[in-house]
Order: sequence, then C-alpha cells, then structure tokens
Amino acid sequence: MNETEAKQKLETLREQLNQYNYEYHVQDNPSVSDYQYDMKMRELIELEEQFPELITPDSPSQRVGGPPLDAFEKVQHNVPMLSLGNAFNEEELRDFDRRAQGGVEEEVQYVCELKIDGLAVSLTYEDGLFVRGATRGDGTTGEDITKNLRTIRNIPLRLEENYTLEVRGEAYMPKRSFIALNEEKEANGDEPFANPRNAAAGSLRQLDPKIASKRNLDIFLYGVGEWEDSTLESHSERLEKLKELGLKTNPEWKKCRNIDEVIDYVNGWVERRMDLDYEIDGIVIKVDRLDQQEELGFTAKSPRWATAYKFPAEEAITHLKDIELSVGRTGAVTPTAILEPVKVAGTTVQRASLHNEDLIKEKDIRIGDTVVIKKAGDIIPEVVRVVMDERTGEEEPYRMPDHCPECGSELVRLEEEVALRCINPNCPAQLREGLIHFVSRNAMNIDGLGEKVIAQLFKESLVSTIADLYKLDREELLKLERMGEKSVDNLLNAIDASKENSLERLLFGLGIRYVGSKAAKTLAEAFGTMENLQEASYEDLTAVNEIGDKMADSIYRYFDEPKVQDLLTELKRLGLNMEYKGRKKNDQPTDSLFLDKTIVLTGKMEDYTRSEAKKLVEDLGGKITGSVSKKTDILIAGEDAGSKYDKAKDLGVEIWDEEKFKQALDA
Ligand code: NAD
Repeated sequence: MNETEAKQKLETLREQLNQYNYEYHVQDNPSVSDYQYDMKMRELIELEEQFPELITPDSPSQRVGGPPLDAFEKVQHNVPMLSLGNAFNEEELRDFDRRAQGGVEEEVQYVCELKIDGLAVSLTYEDGLFVRGATRGDGTTGEDITKNLRTIRNIPLRLEENYTLEVRGEAYMPKRSFIALNEEKEANGDEPFANPRNAAAGSLRQLDPKIASKRNLDIFLYGVGEWEDSTLESHSERLEKLKELGLKTNPEWKKCRNIDEVIDYVNGWVERRMDLDYEIDGIVIKVDRLDQQEELGFTAKSPRWATAYKFPAEEAITHLKDIELSVGRTGAVTPTAILEPVKVAGTTVQRASLHNEDLIKEKDIRIGDTVVIKKAGDIIPEVVRVVMDERTGEEEPYRMPDHCPECGSELVRLEEEVALRCINPNCPAQLREGLIHFVSRNAMNIDGLGEKVIAQLFKESLVSTIADLYKLDREELLKLERMGEKSVDNLLNAIDASKENSLERLLFGLGIRYVGSKAAKTLAEAFGTMENLQEASYEDLTAVNEIGDKMADSIYRYFDEPKVQDLLTELKRLGLNMEYKGRKKNDQPTDSLFLDKTIVLTGKMEDYTRSEAKKLVEDLGGKITGSVSKKTDILIAGEDAGSKYDKAKDLGVEIWDEEKFKQALDA
C-alpha cells in the first residue's frame, strides 16, 4: 500500500471508529460488537505503525473514550483516566511480559484482576468524605455524576480513615438486574439495553438520580488516581488498603509471580466467569510494584505497565433439533439449524444459519447432534462443530432436497456455486423476498412495509409483483388484521412518495444480480435514465469504470428479459420516476458553497446522519476528511462536538453549526 492509499484507508477507519466510539461512549448504544470494534482498532494501529508520519493526535488510536455530555458539569482529571492495551491470546500476553520485563531492571511481578464490564468512574474523597464522582469521559474531562453515584449503596459516603484521595473503579449492573430491567423495558415497548455495560452507563448518565437509584447498580474499586500522602509501594498493597478504607474491591484478584501464573489465572476464568453474577470481558494484568509502573510509563492512551486480556467469543453447547430451509430472493436455498434455546453472549439463540450443503457435509452435522455454537464476536450465531463424543447413533445425516420447499420446482446447483438454487422465476418465496428487498432502506425505503406486512399481503394475494405494490387498494388493506385507517394511510403515502425516488434506488431495489447499492449509483450516474440503461450494449456497460464483465453480463441479460421489460413499462405507467436526480459524473456543480472545499464533520446533527451529510457535501463538490488540520476549510459541528471542535478553533478553521449547514445546502 502506498502513502496515498494508506491515507485514504486511515481516514475511513478513523471515521468508522469515531462513529462506533460515539455510539458506545456517548449514546451507550453500540451498533457493532466489541470484538468487531477491537479488530478495526487493530487494523488502524497496524497501519499507523507502518506509516507513523500519518498519525494524528485526534486519531481514535490516540484517544480515550468519548466527549462528556454538555448536560453534566465537567470534571477535570488531574491524573488522566486512560484506556488499556489489549491481548487476545497467550502469545500476546507473553509479548506484553517481554516488553514489561525489558523496560525495568528487576524482575516484574503481576497482579491479575477481573475486568469488570461497566463504566469507569472516579470517586474523590476529601478528609474521608465523598465529595465528587465522575465518569472517565475523554480521559481528561469527565462528567460530574456525583448525585447518581451517591445512589449506589456500596459507595461509602465516609471512609474509615480521613484520607484525601481519588479512587477509581468500575460501576456495573449485576446480570440479574440487567435481565429484569430489560424485561421491564420490553414490556413497556422501550428498546432494551444491548448489554449490562451499556445499561450501567445509560443509568449513571441520567439527569434524574431517581432513575439511577432504581437500577440496582454496584461498584468495584481497583485503582487510585491521586493520593499524595500515601506511602504504599505496590498495587496489591493499595488494593488491601482500599478495602480497609471501606471501599468495595473485587475479591478475586491474585498476585502472580510470573507470566505463566498469569496465563493459568486467565485460563481458569474462561469458564468460571459464567458463574459470576456480573459480566466480565477479560482479565486486567498490572505490574505490581509502583516504582516499576512509573518507570514503564504510558503511551498516549494507556499505561505500559498494564494490559487487558480479552476473552474469546463465548461458546455454548446445545442440541440441534432440526434443519429448516429458506429460499432467498435470488432463489438460493439456505439451511438453518433449529436449536434447543441456549444463552450465548447475553442473548438466547434458537437458530443458526448452516449456509450451504457443503458446510453441513464438512462439519458432518446431523439432526439430533449435540453442537457447539458461538457468536463469533459477531451478532450472528453459528455452529462451530459437532460434539462427536455425544453421538448415540440415532442422529440422522442430512440431505438437501432435490426440490424447492416453497414451489416444488427442481433445484439446481450452478457452476462454481455452493448454493442450491430454485430457478423458477415465479417461486412465491423468491417474489416475497424480492419485495422485502425492494422496499428496504437502501432501496426504495418504504416505511411501514416490514416483513410481516409483506407476508400478509402475499398471503391475502394482494401482491405478487413489485408493480402490485403501487396498485394496492385502501379498502382491501383495511380488511387486513392489525391495519387501522392511520397505518393504511401512512403506508399508502409512503408507497406513493417512493415513486419520486432517484433512479439508483429503483435499480438497486430491482435486485439485479451483482448490482449492489454502490453499483446502482454508478450506473444511474453514468446512464442517467432507465431507458438509456435498457438500451445499453454490453460494451457500453463495461465502458463504465467499476462495472466488470460479470456484472455487465448480468445487467445486459436482465434487461433483455421480456418479463423485465413489461415490468418496467408498467412501473413507468404507474408513475415511478426513472431518472437519476443526483449530480451526473463529470458534471461538476459550479455554484455550490461546498465546491472544492475540504470539510470535516463532527458531533451529532438532528436531521442528518453522518453518512447523509457526507453524501450531500460530496454531491455538491466538497471533500470530506476525517480529521481537522490546517488544510481544513470548514468544520461542520453538530451537538456534542469534541476535540475536533477545539482543534478547529485553535487553527482558526471556519466552524458551521447545523443551521448554517442547512442554509448552505439551500444556497
Ligand atoms: P477497555 O475496556 O479495553 O479497558 C479499559 C477499561 O477497563 C478501564 O477504563 C476500566 O473502565 C475497565 N476496567 C474494568 N476492570 C478493570 C480493572 N480491574 N482494572 C483496570 N481497569 C478495569 O478500554 P476502553 O477504552 O474503556 O474501551 C475500549 C473498549 O470498549 C474496546 O476495546 C471495545 O471492547 C469497547 N468498545 C466497543 C465499541 C463498540 O461499538 N462495540 C465502541 C467503543 C469501545
């Protein structure tokens, strides 16, 4: 990878990680798993190691947490509250040990602690009295959540001795309270919390302490920020002392004389952690002696004297009761394992995709088997392997059927494909799935048409093709179960509004093989109208950058089908827009305020997601970059803007709020 490519890649990674950080640390509502986040962060760090000159101070690799919310008073941390480096296997733990041993003269010993999955907080005691509690925030500035922390019964309001000190720990929500809270939320129709960590963080960052008081939060203290009059010499002594002072420490910590003992401790907790009544996501390993800690020091983001071992994705053992088949919109027939419900990584799993026949054969999966499943750091469960020792001989080997489970036509296996396909164009399952795709967010984006409603429309024979959607009758819809006047009208309005969509949405929605939303946009930009595209030759198609042979062939064949031609004629007659409404390729806007400007987006806007704003700017000729520098022309700052805002201010970069952004769009 050359420097220009690296720059681009870094920008994308940073933007993604900033978004994940914002969702996780500010909104307490992550959209990806921790494992996915950690792997992305690794990719960023590795690339930055290759191109150190491209490291910027605001890169997520250099920053801790997220900016504090304005709703709270700010608290400055005199000793920064940092993050931890991480290790995912034994080898990486040994690497950490080598670095630590190499950095000091005398041999290093460690303290291992459970890594509690909650929210890092700092508690300040003055002359033994609890005076202030804060979140970590971005490491240097946190939020004052004293009132909320006071509601945690295990936080003593007075210490056993009159010390002045700042202690640190993890506020968490016990598993039981988390389950009860989510049950209550679901019963009230509210969105449940993704995990106990987010529940704890969300509860402590409420403005009304009454809410926090009802959430059954708890705390473990594990460290010290400021403590001037302490004479203690090791972390283990500190932990003992904190306990003596009446602060709740976790009893499971252990002193380890070397890395082998650390590894034993880590391995011992892989299974045992399930028995704890709070969640842990790993083990924290800290150099015990404080003078050695000082000698080893810190990176921009974490101490060199500590690391976090992160547990591998959780696995569970269950029974495979049956294998069900489903037919996708392209006719691919996918087997799904039906499982005895089992808890994995916080949720109950009952189904797992088996992908295709080859996989079933390769893993020798049979109905009745005992299987290991996991959520590979991902949200989607999968069958890892069969527990062969549990085989009784009663299990039934599985054979994929020869005929489509929905329409009965013969299934075929196309060359070079692993999937079996139903190639009957009138297969009801394919039509239904095709319609679900057509109305989906990146396609025609029709609100109110979820899978259930579509299944209902099919069942009642109100639709069988895309065109039928635009011919739905209000009276017929009103006869459907759970469809009141209001929802019917909303639905019909949404369907009607979708007629105005720009060409690329329709193109993507049609579900032409190999044409994803990006290719649909490229095609719409290049050809401008559906008619031009229908008339395009194979050569015209391949002449467009980014359209390869395989895609061109698929597009050409698609438009050559008489049935497709009839469908498009009908859609046109029904009033669907068939033209591209965005900016044409090479057709630069000449009068936009964004033209040729380098723009950075930060914070949260009320009316636009980050990607919508990005698209708008780019369509008007602006260039979006991930970090603020001297080259930045404009910073567009939404709510809760963080360090990018400060940096832009320092550099004298022009700053727009959402209102100004809107005006510029209309200008
Ligand atoms: P971290 O969670 O990897 O480690 C640091 C934190 O560990 C400390 O701040 C402290 O709160 C906690 N901790 C728990 N027990 C401890 C103990 N005994 N001693 C010391 N510290 C202890 O790092 P982070 O900076 O808090 O967060 C980064 C992590 O958060 C990522 O690795 C990822 O797993 C997760 N994350 C996920 C997303 C997402 O979108 N899913 C986004 C951002 C961060």
